[in-house]
Amino acid sequence: SMASPALLMRVVASAYSVAEKAAKIVRNVMSAGDLGIVEKTGANDLQTKADRLVQMSICASLARKFPKVTIIGEEELSTDEVTEDLIENGHCEEILKKTCPAQYTGIKEEELVIWVDPLDGTKEYTEGLLDHVTVLIGIAYGGKAIAGVINQPYYNYEAGADAVLGRTIWGVLGIGAFGFQLTEAPAGKHIIVTTRSHSSTLVNDCISALNPDSVIRVGGAGNKIIQLIEGKASAYVFASPGCKKWDTCAPEAILHAVGGKITDIHGNPFQYNKEVKHMNSAGVLATLRNYDYYASRIPNTVKQSLVP
Ligand code: AMP
Ligand code: MG
Ligand code: MG
Repeated sequence: SMASPALLMRVVASAYSVAEKAAKIVRNVMSAGDLGIVEKTGANDLQTKADRLVQMSICASLARKFPKVTIIGEEELSTDEVTEDLIENGHCEEILKKTCPAQYTGIKEEELVIWVDPLDGTKEYTEGLLDHVTVLIGIAYGGKAIAGVINQPYYNYEAGADAVLGRTIWGVLGIGAFGFQLTEAPAGKHIIVTTRSHSSTLVNDCISALNPDSVIRVGGAGNKIIQLIEGKASAYVFASPGCKKWDTCAPEAILHAVGGKITDIHGNPFQYNKEVKHMNSAGVLATLRNYDYYASRIPNTVKQSLVP
């Protein structure tokens, strides 16, 4: 008989279904029209009813199946009872059919850390820029992002009523990433993707120093990694604190699974063990290809302004 699938594959298969349930909640809250917006640190740091409900749904659903896994979510929530309608029990069969990479077959629940951004791009969600929004579930082992799920609830929303709304991208180091078409950015062009709602002089000075052919300003860390793997942009550059471990964990796993690279602005890799500081204080630099080209052109003055 078949051995039962490795824990990692069961977690990813569950996270896939949990992220699809999350996407339905994101769409339902928007259609219902009452976003319940709360300012966290200020007007550019928001939480909506969707952020709250989705985090409860993801964390409770995964904790029920994998009680010894550490789960860290972005939102600070009151410890309200999670209602049963928020629980997702399903999993993606196709993921369970994939072979777990040998180095991950022995992983135990206690050794996994799951970083959850229930709704990445909240500011854009409240402004109706719906395709900027993603749901991020990142899975870390030994301090490294090794697997991730990115759901884009409003993928295709401008493509008309016939188009299938939403998609789920997933990846595991050593297996690859699925749910999208890997595409190279235009050769010889430097297209930078960066923040839309968290710019600063430093953010813009750093981009100018890279002498880009064009700059795309969109919300969400998940959304920006999608721009890299679909060839819309050649580098994600964010010379600022603000981005957190739950923003980068799932995107990192997917980008690394297809041969890309993400670090802070100094070139330091991110750590994802449960004790780590949440803030990515020294910014973000990510590419699918030609990482060294961009890394070598980050000005020293920018680096000196961003302490890891
Ligand atoms: P952005 O590219 O501006 O959408 O940022 C990517 C992620 O980092 C989002 O989850 C943002 O909420 C978060 N982020 C970036 N900068 C800040 C900031 N200054 N304050 C709060 N959150 C931020
Ligand atoms: Mg976020
Ligand atoms: Mg968020």
